[in-house]
Amino acid sequence: MEIEKKVNETIVKYKLLSKKDRVVVALSGGKDSTSILFILHKLGYNVEGLMIDLHLGNWSQVHKKNMEKFCLGLGVKFHVADLKQELGQGICFIKSVLKKKKNLTGCAVCGTIKRWILNKHAKKLRADKLVTGHNLDDEAQNVLMNFLKGNISLGANSGPATGGGSVGGFVQRVKPLFFVPENNIREYAKKMKFDILYDRCPCAFETYRVETRGWIKGVSDKEKMKIVIEFQKLVPGLRKEYTRELRKCKVCGEPCSSVAGVCNACQIFQEL
Ligand code: AMP
Ligand code: ZN
Repeated sequence: MEIEKKVNETIVKYKLLSKKDRVVVALSGGKDSTSILFILHKLGYNVEGLMIDLHLGNWSQVHKKNMEKFCLGLGVKFHVADLKQELGQGICFIKSVLKKKKNLTGCAVCGTIKRWILNKHAKKLRADKLVTGHNLDDEAQNVLMNFLKGNISLGANSGPATGGGSVGGFVQRVKPLFFVPENNIREYAKKMKFDILYDRCPCAFETYRVETRGWIKGVSDKEKMKIVIEFQKLVPGLRKEYTRELRKCKVCGEPCSSVAGVCNACQIFQEL
């Protein structure tokens, strides 16, 4: 199938995974991460699933049950990291506190917390690679969002593989769907009759990402590919200019690039 071929090509071209790797797939329960787990398993990679239970009411419950069943069906191990156990609260409470105290909104808070938890748990699981389901549309949105924020340096880390080689305590994050349009993944998941939900995160409304998604709705997949491929040509230069040295966070010991020595996640946790 076309999408499976594209994933394989991306893995080979960017040396994303080896058959010896212990590969942990970050599962949200949506079509992207479900599809990539399925494809990597089919291609013979040694995969396990890892989901963060965000405690988003029934939405989280259904996604968790779906993924548990899906992994069981494939004979793949399924792990859950519980946000309440980690931070004492569900994601809605955390977001409302941050909005009140720091006027921080949007998917960025969630993204920072998810990255922190996923990295910590992937290390615990002794993962060589952490796979996410980010797709071509996500990446095209990132390029535009960073540009419109007037901060293209934020894209220095963009690419099918980021972090890594456990440099500074980061398990290498890889995105085998980097060049696959969201439309193709949706078609694939439906064709394969995956027993999953297709609705969007109930937390993601009135965010910059949602707005950006609206703006590029009319942009064709071919044009999105061009945006992403052209931007990738700029990344080596941006990396040279903007890559910051990693140190250990003074609070949690996880990797951190902030000059103050406290990682983005701990800066959020300090507000709770
Ligand atoms: P999103 O930020 O929701 O678009 O998700 C992007 C990717 O992050 C997904 O494809 C998953 O690989 C990962 N991800 C998102 N939410 C979760 C979650 N609750 N647990 C584990 N991984 C997640
Ligand atoms: Zn920290």
